[in-house]
Amino acid sequence: MAMGCAGAKRIVLLGPPGAGKGTQAERLARHLDLPLIVTGDLLRAAVREGTPLGRQAKAYMDRGELVPHELVVALIREALQKIEVEGGKGFLLDGFPRNLAQAQALEGITSIDVALLIDVPREEVVRRLSARRVCERCGRVYNLLTQPPQRDEICDACGEKLTQRSDDTPEVVAKRFDVQYNQEAQPLIESYRQKGLLLSIDGVGSVEEVFGRIVRALEGRCAGAGGSP
Ligand SMILES: [Zn+2]
Repeated sequence: MAMGCAGAKRIVLLGPPGAGKGTQAERLARHLDLPLIVTGDLLRAAVREGTPLGRQAKAYMDRGELVPHELVVALIREALQKIEVEGGKGFLLDGFPRNLAQAQALEGITSIDVALLIDVPREEVVRRLSARRVCERCGRVYNLLTQPPQRDEICDACGEKLTQRSDDTPEVVAKRFDVQYNQEAQPLIESYRQKGLLLSIDGVGSVEEVFGRIVRALEGRCAGAGGSP
């Protein structure tokens, strides 16, 4: 596609769990030819490769503790600096920032052009996440809505009856949404809105539909900004 717009190349992705953010992020990265930085992957890769930051992170993970904010920020900084060194045409960042403190830390590293929110209402998040089923024998994960097994609630790989984790019941999912996501995300979203960086996309629909909305919204934003190269 023609990407004549230089205005929207440093993009952070926001959205609740179950919004399909990961899938959209991968497609969008390919479409815009931008490097995709997924915070969780970054952390795992650093640990696997035994980088100085990775070794520090591993010490926390081995103790079953959360990796501190500062370490995650340092990893993001390292990844963004590497991209700058390699030509710096922009990036797509998934999984960071999750709250205002992280957004402020990110501002200390780089500016961003767009905060792309894949917006899915609470009821829909609950519906999607509580459709998750697992195979206790082989560990495969299914979703009755988006990735159903071929036979009703039976594992494709080993034939075991699928079960629902206690974490995935509608009540627990709803609580997780309120406590873990909404409390932190709402102030973050509001802050990006006030800065004029927020681009909110309706995340209800097929992967194709949502992706189409994202591309059109980004292009629209470009045109609106003058689209100067
Ligand atoms: Zn199985």
